[in-house]
Amino acid sequence: MDTPGLADVIRYVDPDPAAPTAVLTFDDGPNPPDTVTLLDLLAREQVTAVFCLVGQQVEAHPDVVRRIVADGHVLANHSFRHDNLSQLTPDAVRADLTRTLDAIHAVVPDAPVPFFRAPFGHYGHAIVVAAELGMRTLDWQLAVEDWVPPGVDELVRRLGGVEPGGVVLLHDGGGDRSQTVAAVARLIPRLRGEGWAFTVPR
Ligand SMILES: [Zn+2]
Repeated sequence: MDTPGLADVIRYVDPDPAAPTAVLTFDDGPNPPDTVTLLDLLAREQVTAVFCLVGQQVEAHPDVVRRIVADGHVLANHSFRHDNLSQLTPDAVRADLTRTLDAIHAVVPDAPVPFFRAPFGHYGHAIVVAAELGMRTLDWQLAVEDWVPPGVDELVRRLGGVEPGGVVLLHDGGGDRSQTVAAVARLIPRLRGEGWAFTVPR
């Protein structure tokens, strides 16, 4: 395999304007209660998503990680404590991502972790190291700055920028993410009403 680089990060999954899909990804958790509220919503709506887990959050909330996996969602490694990995040597990146994988597998031993998402979207050596550890790098087509957060109406407006196949960056962790959950609750029926479906990379 050629060495993977920025051209290989995933921003779209099977884009098809005739049958548009969106990929919902949630970073920085698990983070109850917002993650639990979100899981309830996704279960009700029968939407599968990607959860990009932070290792120390996994250790703090293992029960929520078990629920994420039991509900059929896809996992990504989002580093152990959300450091900027672009500042680190390859060995240090490997240590961080391995520690995070170990934390996840201590809770859900059989769950695959096929993806890596870089904290802050900063890469350095992380794309290559993630690939060596069996993970493809998941970037995004649309970010809506829900980490601010700007209000539910504004989030829903910004989410209108999703393109067919687009990977949407959202956050269930890192602070109070109730606005994100409320915006997703409005986004799902709206997109479905316009003929969209939801998918995940595999
Ligand atoms: Zn993050």
